[in-house]
Amino acid sequence: MNQIASKAFPPHSRVATSDGLTEAERDRILAKAALFAPPPMQDADGRRELVGLTREELAEEMAAIGEKPFRAKQLWHWIYHQGVRDFAQMNSIAKPLQAKLAERFVIGRPGITAEQTSTDGTRKWLFQWRDGQQVETVYIPESDRGSVCISTQVGCTLSCTFCHTGTQKLVRNLGAAEIVGQFLAARDSYGEWPTPKGEEGRRLSNIVVMGMGEPLYNYENIARALTILMDHEGVALSRRRITLSTSGVVPMMDKCGAELGVNLAVSLHAVRDELRDVIVPLNRKYPIAELLDACRRYPGASNARRITFEYVMLRGVNDSEAEAHELVRLLRGIPAKVNLIPFNPWPGSPYQTSTPEALRKFAAIVNDAGYSSPIRRPRGRDILAACGQLKTESERAKRGA
Ligand code: SAH
Ligand code: SF4
Repeated sequence: MNQIASKAFPPHSRVATSDGLTEAERDRILAKAALFAPPPMQDADGRRELVGLTREELAEEMAAIGEKPFRAKQLWHWIYHQGVRDFAQMNSIAKPLQAKLAERFVIGRPGITAEQTSTDGTRKWLFQWRDGQQVETVYIPESDRGSVCISTQVGCTLSCTFCHTGTQKLVRNLGAAEIVGQFLAARDSYGEWPTPKGEEGRRLSNIVVMGMGEPLYNYENIARALTILMDHEGVALSRRRITLSTSGVVPMMDKCGAELGVNLAVSLHAVRDELRDVIVPLNRKYPIAELLDACRRYPGASNARRITFEYVMLRGVNDSEAEAHELVRLLRGIPAKVNLIPFNPWPGSPYQTSTPEALRKFAAIVNDAGYSSPIRRPRGRDILAACGQLKTESERAKRGA
């Protein structure tokens, strides 16, 4: 374990928190993300992908082919409200223009390499992109709603010891088109087009950014994707129905709150730095105290909109009653709820799930302190679709080769 932990960061390198340094750190993170940028979003025949463009970019594309800006508005409606992929079906656009658009553009979806549905109704897709890279996306139905769990990277640079994705090197970031495309393809699968009016009664009513990868290490693409999905003339999901989970990339958390305003989930998993340094190695860079400070500052957090703290229950590692009490102490003053996740095993995983007794005691302590602390019912374990079980076969292409 120590070997894994020391892979990414030297022990206890701490980042200063004064504004200038945080700004510099943020720039460094954004610059690093650019090194893992996705390939250009266009087909082999040169046609450009329209999914993933902002409204402004769509208008620029129209201007570049001599068309008026209102065409961008029409296209937006067809793509994100109607779910149409074929220009020939866009009956508010005259045939000659349909043909002109089809020559130059595509409205893409990921390739579906595999699709599995669990006995509990959870569905998992293995999606493939233009360059052959793959990610998994999961749909988790509940009685009155359903969440699509979206991936943001192929692999992950972080190596949390309990996470299957963490055993897969980061290959590259997903582009906005690929992030949006996961949701559109999930909608296709359930035929939920056109976008239902209002937010009630949707089968695909929520997004959780909790799939493969660390979203705040791919900030620009996830920000662009969520902005598109929240647009009220398209998919129109409110920011209150979107939850982004981070392992604790402190310098990006304020930016995420200020610019996107989505719900935040934080993968805490330990209450002491010595343990968190090992199981969530990013803690060596952004230790617990700094992470919790960033939570206290998180724009939009309130008693009505609490920050979710995720805590994976590892038998004999982080699940004692003393740790539950310490958790309560740490969370004081933060509008918080705690999500206890029984550890989901994967092939070769080094941990066991906490006993039901330990889970119950831990939950009771947190609950008695006034924090909602549901034990997350594992979903889709039979198809390896539960939290932390996602992984794809991939090899990072050698750079410069
Ligand atoms: N990289 C982000 C988002 C993806 S992980 C993050 O780490 O927050 C989504 C959640 O699943 C995280 O809380 C993660 O810690 C948890 N998780 C990872 N592996 C798990 C496992 N084997 N069992 C249960 N939960 C796990
Ligand atoms: Fe990456 Fe999140 Fe898995 Fe950690 S838990 S390895 S940050 S995907």
